[in-house]
Amino acid sequence: MSDPMNVLAPEHRRLRIGDAWRDAAGAATFAVEDPATGKTIAEVADADVVDGLAALDVASKAMAEWAATPPRERSELLTATYRALTERSEEVARLITLEMGKPLAEARGEVAYGAEFFRWFAEEAVRVEGRYNTAPAGGYRILTVPKPVGPCVFVTPWNFPLAMGARKIAPALAAGCTTITKPAAQTPLTMLFLARIMEEAGVPPGVVNVVTTRRAGEVVSALLADRRTRKLSFTGSTEVGRVLLRQAADNVLRTSMELGGNAALIVCADADLDVALDGAMVAKMRNIGESCIAANRVYVEEPVREEFTARFAQRMGALSVGHGLDDGVDVGALIDEASVTKIDELVADAVDRGARVVVGGERPDGPGYFYPPTVLVDVPEDARMLEAEIFGPVAPIISFTSDDEVMAKANDTEHGLAGYVFTRDLQRALRFTEGLETGMVGINRGLISDPSAPFGGVKQSGIGKEGSHEGILEYLDVTYAAIDLP
Ligand code: NAP
Repeated sequence: MSDPMNVLAPEHRRLRIGDAWRDAAGAATFAVEDPATGKTIAEVADADVVDGLAALDVASKAMAEWAATPPRERSELLTATYRALTERSEEVARLITLEMGKPLAEARGEVAYGAEFFRWFAEEAVRVEGRYNTAPAGGYRILTVPKPVGPCVFVTPWNFPLAMGARKIAPALAAGCTTITKPAAQTPLTMLFLARIMEEAGVPPGVVNVVTTRRAGEVVSALLADRRTRKLSFTGSTEVGRVLLRQAADNVLRTSMELGGNAALIVCADADLDVALDGAMVAKMRNIGESCIAANRVYVEEPVREEFTARFAQRMGALSVGHGLDDGVDVGALIDEASVTKIDELVADAVDRGARVVVGGERPDGPGYFYPPTVLVDVPEDARMLEAEIFGPVAPIISFTSDDEVMAKANDTEHGLAGYVFTRDLQRALRFTEGLETGMVGINRGLISDPSAPFGGVKQSGIGKEGSHEGILEYLDVTYAAIDLP
């Protein structure tokens, strides 16, 4: 197989600003590594504040023309991007695996998921509508006019290097906004490749800008402090989200926040256990557990605890760990050393407090950032992993005996992104759907991400929605006109 890096020529490992691919003003670069080997795979430009503001400059200047571009034309450019991503799926997937570590099959899934945002929002671009109605008291009419919010700043995480950017860029372009994306420093290559694909698709210069940097704090705060920026959409940790919300407040920016999660997965005694096991495997192990909606806590009703645990541990233990590009690998490398150390510490903490490891639990020797699929039982309530985002292939199992008890435990967290319930009782499923304090609930399903559904959290998991019809509304302001008509 050829080197996955061949798809991104060295001239495109630089900043995408306006119609140029250029070095950082200070000519600095930083290394990107393959987390499965720890080896450097590429150097990319390391932007500073000057570069960030140069991107904002071109995004602001391109705004009026892009907003005035007929929706059908914008739609067709999004469709062309969808087609290019789909046709080049294998190349993009290999690049994702190389810089992020997930197995190739998962990377292919991410490309399909990410591409779908372009198709979905190509369809939404031509359906932006206002209203016209008579004021209730009569005498005048009310007209609402949707307008693009303006230049947007996007800050994205490393866990889905394509999809987290796609679900911001596609709706923004559909609404008529221009964009500056700052991808995670650990996975900048996929976003540069997307910018290249969009350039080839014919998206005009200045509409999609990508600024790679190791100085996220400085560059992003300069962008947020500039009055030309009109919107921030951030996906990442709740901790960084709080910092950015404070900065965005100074300019009263529109914000969308897709933050951390701590999903409870609840298996009721009446569940179809085969369905529950399939669902739990997906909800826990999709993306190696490095997903904001990953099942962080697995609650199993006492009568089925033993059987579920034995079968789940058997399936977790059968997964093969290795380099994501190798055939037959189910579990690739985690993103970095800090991540493996954190997970190892969370497992040690749970064991110290009385938990028992059923499978996994020992980090392997050798290069790369690997951790084996791990299942723990008898996890006490004060174990840190029940509060922290594990973000890896570790599943703590806790038993429960009543719905009220498990609902209270599930909701006892600052997060509110996703929850999962497995039951054959419709009323029970609906009570959990209404009672769980989360933005999303999977009922007898471990896979809930879908570009046509509104993705987003409540409580400290975020503000706003991505995907679905709601997704484009995040990029539209509404001007209302009162028209005198006695
Ligand atoms: P992170 O540390 O918060 O970083 C996310 C992004 O923010 C990166 O681009 C990072 O740049 C940048 N950043 C860090 N500090 C910053 C600062 N002071 N100012 C401006 N930008 C800053 O999160 P992560 O570790 O990459 O991603 C994992 C987190 O994302 C998890 O908590 C996960 O739950 C969450 N997530 C949420 C969703 C959702 O939809 N709700 C989806 C995916 C992930 P650098 O790379 O340079 O540090």
